[in-house]
Amino acid sequence: MKHVTPYHNWTSEQALKFFNLPFNDLLFQAQSVHRACFDPNMIQMSSLLSIKTGGCEEDCSYCSQSSSYDSGLEASKIIPLEQVVAAAKDAKQAGATRFCMGAAWRNPKERDMPKIIEMVKAVKNLELETCVTLGFVSPEQAGELKEAGLDYYNHNIDTSQEYYKTVVSSHSFNDRIDTLAILRDKKIKLCTGGIIGMGETRIDRANMLRTLACLPKHPESVPINMLVPIPGTPFADLDQVDSFELIRTIAVARIMMPRSYVRLSAGRMELNDHAQSLCFLAGANSIFCGDRLLTTRNVDNDTDMALFKTLGLKAEQHFEGKVTAAE
Ligand code: SF4
Repeated sequence: MKHVTPYHNWTSEQALKFFNLPFNDLLFQAQSVHRACFDPNMIQMSSLLSIKTGGCEEDCSYCSQSSSYDSGLEASKIIPLEQVVAAAKDAKQAGATRFCMGAAWRNPKERDMPKIIEMVKAVKNLELETCVTLGFVSPEQAGELKEAGLDYYNHNIDTSQEYYKTVVSSHSFNDRIDTLAILRDKKIKLCTGGIIGMGETRIDRANMLRTLACLPKHPESVPINMLVPIPGTPFADLDQVDSFELIRTIAVARIMMPRSYVRLSAGRMELNDHAQSLCFLAGANSIFCGDRLLTTRNVDNDTDMALFKTLGLKAEQHFEGKVTAAE
């Protein structure tokens, strides 16, 4: 594989120009970059578990877990360690190499940290990569997580800086960027991306990717989600974005962040096999496996494995820093 040097000075105009390319030209360029940096037939699989559901004090307009909206979701307290370990073992068995634990709150309280630290250590002991998504963390908390063996932290920027206030009013875009800097400072790998289909324009999508691609170091993982409209939330009645726009977004992310894992994330249930195949061709090389995300349904493993077989894709395995294909 050739060496592609990541570039960090992208402009909005450059990002938009990629989006506006003829579809075939865009996919050819994205696939060329992808092949220069990755085995194009290998897909990394992560698994996601909600460790504390609902009752969140933030007001993200897409989210079923915000206490600002009546989505019918039942809030629950932080789950026991044994439940996390059992889910992580199942995820590993299903082919996941990374296990992500998500809690719905603005930020972890000090009293929550010992439990989370135990979870990170236990999952790490199973030889899985560890990831958490816990909202805003202090430098001290980030340091504790790193010490416990945390590999990745998920903290999405969601959309463009300009559109952010239409999506969330309880915190700002810059709050998110500041947290990413805290995590980087502690040498934690970043998983950060966004959601399309929230009423934003293509310019917003281009600006979101430009922000990510202009971070001092590209995020190691870039999840691209398609809005799953949840009844009771402000975005419940938005029309679904065209799947070609999702494919274009993935392709532009691949070109602008050539060495990042680009994850085809929430919204996969709405895609048929052909659309998913085009997402992989556009450079997506990571998915969530298992039939559940934090609160929404996901494609089941048998269906994913059938598509992998059709396309000749292999699930990626990590062993002592080396990437190989699962048998
Ligand atoms: S901070 Fe997270 S859990 Fe809370 S409302 Fe926003 S997206 Fe949902």
